Amino acid sequence: MTKLIKLNSILTCIFACLIFSCNSEQKDSIQTNKNQFEKQVDSILSLMTIEEKIGQLNLPSAGDITTGQAKSSNIAKKIEEGKVGGLFNIKSVSKIKEVQRIAVEKSRLKIPLIFGMDIIHGYQTTFPIPLGLSCSWDMEMIKKTAQMAAQEATADGINWTFSPMVDISRDPRWGRVSEGSGEDPFLGSEIAKAMVNGYQGDDLTKNNTMIACVKHFALYGAPEAGRDYNTVDMSKIRMYNEYLPPYKAAIDAGVRTVMVSFNEIDGIPASGNKWLLTDLLRTDWGFNGFVVTDYTGIEEMMYHGVGDFQQVSAMALTAGVDMDMVSDGFLTTLKKSLDEGKISIDAIDAAVKRILTAKFELGLFTDPYKYCDESRPPKEIFTKENKDFARKVSSESMVLLKNDNQLLPLKKSGTIALIGPLANTAVNMAGTWSVATKQELSNPLLEGLKTVVGDKAKIEYAKGSNLDYDLELENRATMFGKEIPRDGRTDKQLLDEALAMASRSDVIVAALGESAEFSGECSSRTNLEIPQVQKDLLNALLKTGKPVVLVLFTGRPLVIVDENTNVPAILNVWFPGSEAGLAISDVLFGDVNPSGKLTATFPRNVGQIPIFYNHKNTGRPLGNNEGKFEKFKSNYLDVRNEPLYPFGYGLSYTTFDYANLKLSTNKINANETVEVTIDVTNSGIYDGKEVVQLYIRDLVGSVTRPVKELKGFHKVEIKKGETKKVIFRLTENDLKFYNSNLDFVSEPGDFEVFVGTNSDTHLKSKFELIK
Ligand code: BGC
Repeated sequence: MTKLIKLNSILTCIFACLIFSCNSEQKDSIQTNKNQFEKQVDSILSLMTIEEKIGQLNLPSAGDITTGQAKSSNIAKKIEEGKVGGLFNIKSVSKIKEVQRIAVEKSRLKIPLIFGMDIIHGYQTTFPIPLGLSCSWDMEMIKKTAQMAAQEATADGINWTFSPMVDISRDPRWGRVSEGSGEDPFLGSEIAKAMVNGYQGDDLTKNNTMIACVKHFALYGAPEAGRDYNTVDMSKIRMYNEYLPPYKAAIDAGVRTVMVSFNEIDGIPASGNKWLLTDLLRTDWGFNGFVVTDYTGIEEMMYHGVGDFQQVSAMALTAGVDMDMVSDGFLTTLKKSLDEGKISIDAIDAAVKRILTAKFELGLFTDPYKYCDESRPPKEIFTKENKDFARKVSSESMVLLKNDNQLLPLKKSGTIALIGPLANTAVNMAGTWSVATKQELSNPLLEGLKTVVGDKAKIEYAKGSNLDYDLELENRATMFGKEIPRDGRTDKQLLDEALAMASRSDVIVAALGESAEFSGECSSRTNLEIPQVQKDLLNALLKTGKPVVLVLFTGRPLVIVDENTNVPAILNVWFPGSEAGLAISDVLFGDVNPSGKLTATFPRNVGQIPIFYNHKNTGRPLGNNEGKFEKFKSNYLDVRNEPLYPFGYGLSYTTFDYANLKLSTNKINANETVEVTIDVTNSGIYDGKEVVQLYIRDLVGSVTRPVKELKGFHKVEIKKGETKKVIFRLTENDLKFYNSNLDFVSEPGDFEVFVGTNSDTHLKSKFELIK
């Protein structure tokens, strides 16, 4: 009893000091705060039992906690016993408050919990899927989406997001391409930075910023055969130059947490990979936040075949994992491993310290209920202002793939036949990994069209077909409440209805493609075409002779060679988020001129995969003979090498001409800059935005270099008839790469510079780096 009183008074004293020091440090940078907190963290650590320490490393999913029941749930008991460091998959101020209260009132040391969630592309106000968002190439806007997501999520009690997902992928079979920013390390790094800055802001002690978590470290986007969770095997030089940069960019931007990937790296599962989590991440890159596994990542190491539960848990801790998501491996085995001398107390202490530091950084020791202000949600979540912004963001992410004879923009007049299984499904508009969205509140295309045209045009709607002929596949692709209820009528009846309607219309808008859950986690595909039943519908619609606009919903690059041949206009809308219908309509009618550019290459067929613009030249390149088969050159018998649509591609309702590519000098040394200028003229009849892209090619290297690498881009607004001079600056740093010793170096020699509208640009110049 006396012991307990003594402990309580020590704690009260520590917390009183903490409150003072947290408040006084609010203006300091995150990095400085970390050092400021060291003493306080050490004081708490000195009070902790080994069980309490291990408890801090445990991150269970909240499961079925509901308000009022928290106290009786199994998790609640664990929190009370100090066996939980944080919780995820729980939202709403009332629930979080109730659970936090257990931690700070019932557990012996009163250490607050951290609350995580997958806030991937917006919270309740949902932005386009990340792949779509990346096609905006607008870093300020992307940052603002993360800020807004943080604003809404923190208003709902959450302080840690499992985002950004920065896995580079060149394989659209992999369903999670939808969650990333495409195939390019440079663009991916810029986006990683923007997202981290958006979520974390410059002051984590504010109540509208949150801790971000870069994931999935590392290389998760390169699974063999595009099958989710599959093995990754990659050379170090490719890793460093092509796959690691976005993770590093997030670390350099100050991301506070890192989530480990499911795959193996060099034969060792990432969750137990010391080279990855300690040597690279902490020693080389200087990361000082905490590392969390992915869902059951530790347990899964048993199936990878590297040890039993106790062994893999010890392996994870020793490798550098701080927090165990869901496996319970740390909770149930670390004590035993410690007693048996298989792990060190120092390793446990280091992990606890990192987690406690994050809680300090968030200001949770000052006020554990900092994110539990009941008055915030109604004022800050899914507001008109947020929805308006989402509508703008969505329209900026859409990519116009084809527009023969200026079929688009449509006129707000006559009769428009809206046909297709994606035309009227609110629940599919937010896309995959949108756990906080209220799916039914998104506006589907039918509703958006009607709102935007008002009484100026007649909108008719028919479903036209189901999602897929295969009912089982359809069920698998419409999980998590994202059903597209199967129509009881036969395929023929559905088609006949659509054709009758089409024949009465002036133009057909076909809303086709994937459903939201056709991509995302564990949604790999080997056939990347639009489902056959929809292709049959589309062909029948084309046969009517009416103009057809294909509004393509997709979470990945699809194989749309037939559609590209036969359909006059194709607008790729991805999954646009909660304001989908309005945003698509804005673009269809020209209220917004599309400016999105692809961030992932669209292949001609699945056999071309992996396909990406920044490939190597090989010793037998086709050179200028692209499209013509040549024996003993690097090409295929049955398909040309080039993709259907290259990286960076996207049309506008207007046209842009590029001229006068100029370099300020044709020689620079390591301290100099070469200025690249180009005149871009809007030569069409609409005002528009263009993403002007700069690529370089390092012509000779100590290791082979890609045929092109993105090194700069500017999104510029140009009025019709206007010419703008766009300026890029290249320095030695832009010319650096990892050589065969994995040193980041530049090498003297010639560099070509290309500037243009997509990665297939041929307008070029040259300069030399002298050393
Ligand atoms: C996913 C992660 C996600 C985690 C928590 C896993 O299945 O791979 O991306 O953050 O679940 O929900």
